[in-house]
Amino acid sequence: MAAELALRWLRGSTKRASGDDRRGDAPTPDVGRLARQARRELLSAISDFLLENDLAVNPENLSAAYNALSGNSPSLGRRVAERRASAEGISQSWLRSVCADPADQPDEDAPRRLTEELDRSLKVFARSASAARSATSDYGAQLDRHASELHKLDLGDAASGLASIAREMADRARSAEAKLEESEREAKALRRRLSRAKRDAERDHLTGLPNRRAFDAELQRQYAEAKAAHDRLCVAFCDVDHFKLVNDRHGHEAGDRSLKFIARALNTISDKNCHVARHGGEEFVMLFRGATVPEAVEKLDKVRARLAARRLVNRETGEPIGQISFSAGVADAFAYPAAQDALRAADEALLQAKDQGRNRVIAAQKWQRRHSDSAQ
Ligand code: GH3
Ligand code: MG
Ligand code: MG
Repeated sequence: MAAELALRWLRGSTKRASGDDRRGDAPTPDVGRLARQARRELLSAISDFLLENDLAVNPENLSAAYNALSGNSPSLGRRVAERRASAEGISQSWLRSVCADPADQPDEDAPRRLTEELDRSLKVFARSASAARSATSDYGAQLDRHASELHKLDLGDAASGLASIAREMADRARSAEAKLEESEREAKALRRRLSRAKRDAERDHLTGLPNRRAFDAELQRQYAEAKAAHDRLCVAFCDVDHFKLVNDRHGHEAGDRSLKFIARALNTISDKNCHVARHGGEEFVMLFRGATVPEAVEKLDKVRARLAARRLVNRETGEPIGQISFSAGVADAFAYPAAQDALRAADEALLQAKDQGRNRVIAAQKWQRRHSDSAQ
């Protein structure tokens, strides 16, 4: 993941450094110039680092250099700087060993944990504000009562002085109460916004389906749950057939509308035992809880057949888009060492479906060997 990020970043940098990327929102010249300058400096720091230490130019080292020198992994940056300053220098094996240290992996889960912490703090704050407000309100009411009793006693100047102090304190308590009420309202509004932001972060904007991030979390959760309950779990990978042609012939917007249509079709099978998500691009993933591989294949194949029977039309131009189909692979989540391996097996089965002519659903091999008694 980090290697991919670094390579993507480097590609972007070299492209822009050679001036062949002029698309998109051009930043104002100064900001653009400073950003280019910063990228140039980082690129040259990365190449100095690799050359100085006689390290090969490969994804592993580029990723390590990027993480250490860009600030993406501050602890790796620190260890690299210390080692560079020492007499020992940086060898390939040293770099590999520090990169394997979990403490030096960029923390991709940090935003989620921070959000949860913020959510917890806001809950505590809202509770304390509410408790403080009701205590202040009681205090203000008592002061009011005492002030009017003092007033009734008619004890002269001292008492009336005390009464006006008590009134003043009661007024202050009321204004504190109003401020606390306002804070309480703000904390509640913040929590609502936070939970909306959390929901948005797990949703794909185009189709409204859960996104890859949400799917990965759901996969881990269901995998652990199903394993503990000795329940079945299948994973599926779907990819729309020849989707590039839809974009090429009808434009990206028609492509987007078609993707939404496909997502709705896939989502018709989603229920408490079937989780459907967009993995990215024109790829979708699914979890089938409590289903055997043939049951999951059958369920998915029904959606495939229904979708393939439709003929889409470009709403804007009236031109026929024609048939839309997808290919898919299904794998038994427990036939592999880990959930991610099962997902990979489903992806491989999907590639077979593509090779065999597309518009079909194929079961991953491992399941067939494990359950050779069942017909496929
Ligand atoms: P195959 O059957 O082999 O999967 O062919 P394909 O054309 O579907 O595969 P390819 O990977 O070449 O192209 C996928 C296309 O999906 C290219 C990309 O532009 C398009 N695509 C991915 N995400 C989106 C999106 O959000 N909107 C639109 N309109 N197109 C998208
Ligand atoms: Mg694809
Ligand atoms: Mg495709």
